[in-house]
This record gives sequence, C-alpha cells and structure tokens, in this order.
Amino acid sequence: MATCAFCGEEKQLEKVHLWSSAVLRLFGPEEPTRKVEPAVQDLCWDCVAALTDAHAAAHDFAATYCRKELPLGTQLHPSFAPLCRWALATAANHERATRSDNLWWKPLVGAILGREPLPDSVALLFGAWRDLNPLNHFQDRSLEAAKAMVIGSKLGSWPELSPLLQRGWALRVGWGVFLLLDFAPGRAEDTRDALISELEGYGWVSLRADSEITRVPFNDVTSYFFQLVSDPTTPAEEYLNLGS
Ligand SMILES: [Zn+2]
Repeated sequence: MATCAFCGEEKQLEKVHLWSSAVLRLFGPEEPTRKVEPAVQDLCWDCVAALTDAHAAAHDFAATYCRKELPLGTQLHPSFAPLCRWALATAANHERATRSDNLWWKPLVGAILGREPLPDSVALLFGAWRDLNPLNHFQDRSLEAAKAMVIGSKLGSWPELSPLLQRGWALRVGWGVFLLLDFAPGRAEDTRDALISELEGYGWVSLRADSEITRVPFNDVTSYFFQLVSDPTTPAEEYLNLGS
C-alpha cells in the first residue's frame, strides 16, 4: 500500500506505461515496444480505470489521423474532453517519470479523472507533423514527449511569455503532434486567446471543436528535445537569439 499520485488515497498501486497501451499498439508490436517503454507505478486501480474512455479516445484519434502523413485539407472530428484528459494524463506521467518537481497537473487531477469539468486554462492543439530537420532522429521513433516553449511569439519574448504557461508539453504520436498548454491562473484571458490565435495562424488547430488542417506548424529547427512553438517560416538563424 502506498499513496496514489492522483487520488491521494492509500492503495495498492499499479504499473502504468507513460503512453496508453492502446496508442502504443498502433505503432509497433506490443511486446518489444513495452519492454523499452518506461513506466511509473504510482496510480491505484480506480484511477487507472477512470481513464479508460480517455485512452479509447486517444486510440481512435491516433488510428484515424496519426498513422500516415496527414494531407492539408484533412477534416478533424475530435472528442475533445476525453482526448484532453488523455493528453494531461500522459504529460503528468512523463513529469512523474522524470521526477520533475513541477506539479502543475495536481490541481487538474479531478478533471483528468473525468470527475470535474476541464478548466478553460487548458488548451489542446494538434499539428500535422512534417520531418523537416536534417538533424533530428524522429525517423524510427513514433512516440515522443517534450516540454513545449513558446519562443518567437508576436506577443513578446520568451522570458516575458514564460509566466503565462504553467507548463507546455508536445506529445508526438506518429504523424501528428499534440500541443498541451496549461495557462497560469490569473493571467489575462485576452493574452491567452491571442497566443492561441497566433498558434492557429501557424497551423496548430484547437481540438475543442471540429477543424481542418490548413498549414504545417513545423520548421527545420523543431525537435523533440526543444519544441519551438512559433512561426514556422522564421529563418533558423533567428532562433539562435529568440530563446535568450
Ligand atoms: Zn488513485
């Protein structure tokens, strides 16, 4: 018996993989993938079971939109709430697996488990992946998670904008990338909306409603180690200055 990371109760804890098994299975033989896939063992069975519909939504979305290069003009029909809960759980799993001291996800546990509504502070966007970086190593890895930063925004520099976000995660699933943003409480809503509009202009689409892929939001310096969230047409050399 130990403390469940989500509900906080003393229970027997289950081993959970960082990524849904339902999503893992789409991208390779289950057993070899599972052997190398790290796991955490800090959730009780009830909390694992509460996410069943979220994993199913992620599986369905990934099976439809993430198994091949997504052409422009593709219409997306997402199930926002369960998909967002899956993205939050997956990002929270990665935080715990890396023993991060950033506990941004803790106040969202009720929403992750589907017991409370998702707050407006959480945004989930999706981008069609294109492998444009000659230096990256994505070719044989279909599932990757990286912290996302907003760099090169029209709204301000990274140091100015970083307090706007409690956390950003980019979850790459095959030919798509989910961009999960948790905005800090008390920040001006208009700034948050302006940032999301800017990202939509670069090709990210909000998964709160049906939408269409019209652009590809990736540039030649995007990698899973350093997820740049900015205008994809910005020349690479400009990025050298943007993050400082
Ligand atoms: Zn629990």
